Amino acid sequence: ETVQPAELVAELVEQHQLTSAKPVRFDVDVAATAVHCDRLHLRNVISNLIDNAIKYSREQVTIRIQGQPEPSGWRLTVADDGIGIPASYQPAVFDRFFRVPTGNLHPVKGFGLGLYYVRQVVERHGGRLHLQSEQGRGSTFSLWLPSF
Ligand code: ATP
Ligand code: MG
Repeated sequence: ETVQPAELVAELVEQHQLTSAKPVRFDVDVAATAVHCDRLHLRNVISNLIDNAIKYSREQVTIRIQGQPEPSGWRLTVADDGIGIPASYQPAVFDRFFRVPTGNLHPVKGFGLGLYYVRQVVERHGGRLHLQSEQGRGSTFSLWLPSF
């Protein structure tokens, strides 16, 4: 099905702004292009990434969302300036039920399923996932979906 990611992102940003318990600053730049994918799943994927960016940050957070067409597909990037993920745990974050083990220091509760779902959806669409993160500085999740 044909999806306009810019519309999806705008809706989700509005929704998260209304429900977030902490101040969130969004910096959105998503090109007006169409993408072929499952609308509900792409929406949930973006929602999960925004949810994590808010959850795994300190008292406030800035989230930068960029979307642009690429020669053979489309790329979406969700970057935050939150707590980051230690390098040793980065390969595991897309695993089922995985949460960074910080014990009682973990700021919020969760099941460790959000990013597993993200991986399933991206893989089913023949896409690619990329994570870049630095502990204490922030995280950038990037996904690429093929255009056919
Ligand atoms: P839920 O199933 O409710 O999403 P969750 O948020 O714990 O639970 P995931 O979304 O799969 O699970 O994320 C897995 C783990 O990766 C998190 O528990 C957290 O430790 C880490 N993580 C995910 N996103 C971020 C982020 N933006 N910044 C820092 N750590 C993150
Ligand atoms: Mg999550």
